[in-house]
Amino acid sequence: MSYSEVQHFIGGKWCPGGEGLALDVLNPATEQMIGKVAVATKSDLDAALESAQLGFEEWGAMSAYTRSNILRNAAIILRERADMIAGILTLEQGKPLAQAKAEVLAGAEFIEWSAEEARRTYGLVIPARNAEVLQLTLREPVGPVAAFAPWNFPINQCVRKLAAGLAAGCSFVLKGPEDTPGSPAELVRAFVDAGVPGNTINLVYGDPPMISGHLIPHRVIRKISFTGSTQVGRQIGAMAASHMKRMTLELGGHAPVIVAEDADIEAAVKFMVLQKFRNGGQVCTSPTRFLVQQKVFDRFVEKFVKQCAELVVGDGLDPATEMGPLINRKRVDSVSELVDEAVSLGAKLCTGGNRIANKGFFYAPTVLTNVPIAARIMNEEPFGPVALINPFNTLDEALEEANRLEFGLASYAFAGSAATVAKLGKGIAAGMVSINHLGLALPEVPFGGIGDSGVGTEGGAEAVAQFLATKFVTQQTI
Ligand code: NAD
Repeated sequence: MSYSEVQHFIGGKWCPGGEGLALDVLNPATEQMIGKVAVATKSDLDAALESAQLGFEEWGAMSAYTRSNILRNAAIILRERADMIAGILTLEQGKPLAQAKAEVLAGAEFIEWSAEEARRTYGLVIPARNAEVLQLTLREPVGPVAAFAPWNFPINQCVRKLAAGLAAGCSFVLKGPEDTPGSPAELVRAFVDAGVPGNTINLVYGDPPMISGHLIPHRVIRKISFTGSTQVGRQIGAMAASHMKRMTLELGGHAPVIVAEDADIEAAVKFMVLQKFRNGGQVCTSPTRFLVQQKVFDRFVEKFVKQCAELVVGDGLDPATEMGPLINRKRVDSVSELVDEAVSLGAKLCTGGNRIANKGFFYAPTVLTNVPIAARIMNEEPFGPVALINPFNTLDEALEEANRLEFGLASYAFAGSAATVAKLGKGIAAGMVSINHLGLALPEVPFGGIGDSGVGTEGGAEAVAQFLATKFVTQQTI
């Protein structure tokens, strides 16, 4: 398969869609077409489902030890191919090449972590009431999984699902992201080249609602794993619930950042500029609502705006680039609309607020201060390179604003005193809180949200547990 045509992987074979339909794939830095991606028909999906059932029987029957060794091989292969895959990723997604390579290498780490966990899916021996009875819990793979991954981290979002699910013994029908199909295809190839049976991972692309509508209700599918917006997550979750399918939903966020007056302001600015503009802010854990204590507000804003305005925005293939384009025109329009509305309501535009260049989906790193709470951007996930910075007086006031929204994914805080660190760590309502450094999203730590940010977790030991069912066996020796 060359990039010029990304195909489905069904039943162990790369294949075009049944009707030969294909969508254009664009380079977001140039808006030029770089290739095509196949579109699945319902009969392609049926073939993928049949394959996933066979793949589950084959993979699930292997010992955890064998599965673990195969997954280790996949990590080795992914590392060997990191430069090639990073090139594809940057071309289709836009992020700087160094970030693309880091994403692929991190993918190898996720696989290794899962390979280790594969051998530790322990059950229990529960003391029985009768000496002749043995009571056991066995942890078994739930079955074939329908997984849906987005375009912002095509390797990371796919590998989180595949590595953990494969470690548990599950098989997959994975709907890859149509905007960035090439790098997930290479990920699947790495797993298969490492020894995962061809029918165990099936990869399809096409019309997302048609695909989810066909896969989720199907009797073969036992578990749903979706990453994307809260809006789509609700529909997927409702469908999964009505067909009694287990689910993990990794949805949107609107991460608060509380900066207390005794924080190390230089460090807070350095970490947060890095984190805010990584991947053009198209990150579910992207810091968004900055709440800065009044006494240090002006100093924080001045330094933040200066560093933000110095960021080099350009084609990710240029080594000087620090922030690439957004994924598509729809994303640029959506960010632009939110910023314009906030400014019209009285927010102060400190830098950015405009598109850049005539070609490519570029939007300038943007900082708004004193943003009214009524502005849409204070309530909806901007999913773009925009920081909103408002002042606060007391920590309780900051916590109230941080916890105002139904989202609860990532959150950040910077503070000096141990008492403030403890108060913020406990007080922020979110799935993840990172204080005084950037410590989220490693393979060994939990990754997930509360409220509108989703259901379940994709990292740490709990990640594999999401793909396991507990079976209780009680046996009496005759
Ligand atoms: P979107 O909600 O239209 O799509 C997000 C992803 O879900 C895409 O990969 C898309 O193909 C898929 N999708 C959409 N409808 C689907 C359906 N009915 N069935 C199955 N899959 C479906 O949003 P978008 O415009 O692509 O991205 C912008 C928004 O998505 C952001 O505001 C953000 O909230 C969210 N998002 C979140 C993450 C994350 O990491 N949690 C990643 C990407 C996008």
